[in-house]
Amino acid sequence: MNVSAFYRFCSRLSFTILVLISCAISIHAADKVIVLKAARLFDGKSKTLAQNGVVIIQGNKIVDAGSNFPAPTDAQVIDLGDATLSPGFMDGHTHLTLDFSGNYNERRLKEVDLNVSEQAIAATRYARATVEAGFTTVRDLGSRFVGSKEFVDVALRNSINKGVIVGPRMLVATYGIGATGGHFDPTSGFRDMLFGHEPDFSQGIADGADAIRKAVRFEVKNGADVIKAAVSGGVLSLADEVDTPQLTPAEMAALVDESHRLRKKVAVHCHGDQAAKEAIEAGVDSIEHGSFMKPETLTLMKNKGTYLTPTLMATEWIMSKIDNYPPALQAKAKAAAAARSDMFRNAVKMGVKISFGTDAAVFPHGQNAKEFKLMVDLGMQPIDALKTATGNAADLFGIAQKTGTLEKGKFADVIAMPGDPTADITATERVSFVMKEGKIIRNGPPSALPVAISSDPEAEIPAD
Ligand SMILES: [Zn+2]
Repeated sequence: MNVSAFYRFCSRLSFTILVLISCAISIHAADKVIVLKAARLFDGKSKTLAQNGVVIIQGNKIVDAGSNFPAPTDAQVIDLGDATLSPGFMDGHTHLTLDFSGNYNERRLKEVDLNVSEQAIAATRYARATVEAGFTTVRDLGSRFVGSKEFVDVALRNSINKGVIVGPRMLVATYGIGATGGHFDPTSGFRDMLFGHEPDFSQGIADGADAIRKAVRFEVKNGADVIKAAVSGGVLSLADEVDTPQLTPAEMAALVDESHRLRKKVAVHCHGDQAAKEAIEAGVDSIEHGSFMKPETLTLMKNKGTYLTPTLMATEWIMSKIDNYPPALQAKAKAAAAARSDMFRNAVKMGVKISFGTDAAVFPHGQNAKEFKLMVDLGMQPIDALKTATGNAADLFGIAQKTGTLEKGKFADVIAMPGDPTADITATERVSFVMKEGKIIRNGPPSALPVAISSDPEAEIPAD
């Protein structure tokens, strides 16, 4: 190339670069501005609602949020009227790939009957029902299909992130980690060796500190965002008692250490008091359920800053459909239900950090918001109940920099519900507008899809 050819090449190259830069700028500038207005606004952290709420959105982010802002000229204004704007709700405890809400034995048969791919397709509807109910972020705390090693929760999360299907932002746990014969052992209650082998770390079953570390590493390798483990027995498992400890302190220490080294939070399924005490001492990030926790254990939680995820909806649902469960599980459910109301009242009084979580899948997906009323009925202030599902949840999930409050620079995850939820908390059950990362998922009635799918056609929790 001679000198003049070189200069021509350079000038063409710099022109191309200029064109590319100006294209990038104009694409950015072309992001239309959307202004959401409503009579009230909850920002996810304040003690009161703001009047004349305004949220200004450009692209996938919030540009500004507060009271009485003028709308920029040429913005698209959506006035939602006598409603309350709020950050998208967050549920810290769901199982979007499963549905346990129908008759227990029928469901158990289906679990070994249905093709896993078919169950994964059903999960896309559960995801849609959840986001349409106003839940723009969830933690998915355990997904498993007996006899299969599929990571359906990872696939669901990735498909949502890629825009293939509509659903909430998901932080997934893959398999719940637990002991042989414990709450998460997928073969518990089936005839010995029915599946040909004992489950191992590759299905979350681990005994001993080293095996627990291997299970954590295996899950992170396969896409886990958060680690879930069962440290005590559970209600819907056939071969354990509901409150016995299932991991040793040494196993819990290994669980927490390995997860935190890999920058993953640890959520533990725990009903029993002793197991909770040991798990809190070990440094877990949240206790899920916590039914039998005594005041002394709640004090330990408060001092350590450990979150409680109450999942009141799970017990509420099981108790309202108690005949759907085998006698052994009925007894466990009754014991847990009798203990959890006092535990929750104490936790609220003592100021334990609480993050919203429901155990959706035990009840039909999309009914998550009914948890709000249960918390308020047990003594929580409505504004604090709203905080559990927004600012608090974002803090527990480790994503408070990105979402959970209506503030400049955060993702535009914005919902609206009619009226004033601090006057009537059940307004949270009637979300009418949902935006996730600046995209409107719903404005008005839910999609025509039969979204609240359940194996039980009468799957509606009693109103009282
Ligand atoms: Zn659960």
